[in-house]
Amino acid sequence: LHPTSLAMEAMDSELKPHFILVPLMAQGHMIPMVDMARLLAEHDATVTFVTTPVNASRIKTIIERIEASKLPIKFLKLQFPCEKVGLPEGYESADLLSGLDQIMKFVDASAMLKESLITCLKGQYHSPTCIIADTNQPWVGDVARELGIPRLAFNGSGAFPNLAMYIIRHQKIFDDVKDDKEIISIPGFPHRLEMTKAKAPLSVYRPGMEQFMEKRLKEERIADGMVVNTFHELESLYVESYAKTAGKKIWTIGPMLLCNKNIHEFSSRGNKASINEEDCSCWLDSMKPGSVVYVSFGSLAQTTVAQLAEIGLGLEASNKPFVWVIKSGDKPDVEEWLCNDFEERVKDRGLIIKGWAPQMMILSHPAIGGFLTHCGWNSTLESICTGVPMITWPHFADQFLNEMLIVEILKIGMKIGVEEPNQWVTDKESKNDNDVMVKRDDVAKAVLELMDEGEEMRERARELARKAREAMNEGGSSFNNIIELIKQFGDASKIFSSS
Ligand code: UDP
Repeated sequence: LHPTSLAMEAMDSELKPHFILVPLMAQGHMIPMVDMARLLAEHDATVTFVTTPVNASRIKTIIERIEASKLPIKFLKLQFPCEKVGLPEGYESADLLSGLDQIMKFVDASAMLKESLITCLKGQYHSPTCIIADTNQPWVGDVARELGIPRLAFNGSGAFPNLAMYIIRHQKIFDDVKDDKEIISIPGFPHRLEMTKAKAPLSVYRPGMEQFMEKRLKEERIADGMVVNTFHELESLYVESYAKTAGKKIWTIGPMLLCNKNIHEFSSRGNKASINEEDCSCWLDSMKPGSVVYVSFGSLAQTTVAQLAEIGLGLEASNKPFVWVIKSGDKPDVEEWLCNDFEERVKDRGLIIKGWAPQMMILSHPAIGGFLTHCGWNSTLESICTGVPMITWPHFADQFLNEMLIVEILKIGMKIGVEEPNQWVTDKESKNDNDVMVKRDDVAKAVLELMDEGEEMRERARELARKAREAMNEGGSSFNNIIELIKQFGDASKIFSSS
């Protein structure tokens, strides 16, 4: 290229909107933010995605694919200071943590990224125009102020759960409630919403983290807007109410996962799959359409060995084909149980994935007819986008709220019937290996009911899948919001003249 055209190209890129994305280092938060990076870049913005070496190595395939596609996304790998806070080397993602002590160290280590991020961003040739940060990274508020640019908040959840969480946390609804089982009404919700403290999304943060929680709430209050991974047609009532309650613009730009256009893009989301894609596909091809139930509890929820055994025996008793994901964290003891001829007994109709599953690839396969899920928001959206009805088994955080939306509002799922939370890290040490929340008969009953009688739910789910695509297609509500958002927060000249 002629030097003049090079200079013009540089000027052109300088004028482009430049978004900095700072996810929480956890699969359920990183995966949608990688999708967000792609969406912004596909709509002509430049993106810097903040990550760390371990997290980057997990999504290596995606990074390579993005680099090959020449999308203007840069992955900025900051050193995660495990050693400084006393975390074992490489503990850079929430799924690796055990115990409250490690969570606190993880939060401290994340906040220590502040100085290096400021230095890197100030040194960038192309100045950032906006930061979109996870609400669990409240220190990013200081970075945005230091750079004099706006900051949008994102937390990976939908509008219904976000609205309820906003009210519950900011109005401290459960602070003085002593009885975990007392039914409490959530004020200011657009319709009657009741829940117990046990099921409430009080987050995993506990005593000792008050300062962090206060900062988190403050930064959420003063954010310049919220970005939500949902679409207007799915939850319009809650989007509007959330905007009113939080007093700011809510940008619905999802389901962001629909930026992935083919099986290969879907299969490498979040981590390297522990099963060969082709083998998985072939196995599914050999099953009848809509006949298989997919069972997975996301990236964080822990399941005791006794509970895994009940799930396995329930699936066996249902006589339905299944794909069952058992996380590597659950593995050592369960391996022995599985080998105890369970795998042999179900080998003609059960595929067990030990480790990371290519979830979206599986859910998109026509053989899948139902999803037994922990109701994480990403899993919920993935089920909706593939038109698959759900059996809901919430564990913690926003998952009981998501269950209400799935079962009571959208009517695309049925409850397995858990009334108690199964907390992530805090209770892990006290968790008894014999704890069982759902018995095998209830697993079998729910699977049979959904697979044999779930046609109406399936129809509704398919209709939502169609609407989700419409929202993301040209002219759709989310598509238009992405363009608007880039226009509003991407104009460098406007931002710099006002700062
Ligand atoms: N996921 C996956 N394979 C697995 C486990 C999880 O691809 O074996 C993905 C899943 O598709 C979703 C994300 O990890 O995109 C989990 O997010 P979700 O909000 O459902 O639950 P969380 O893990 O945050 O509890």
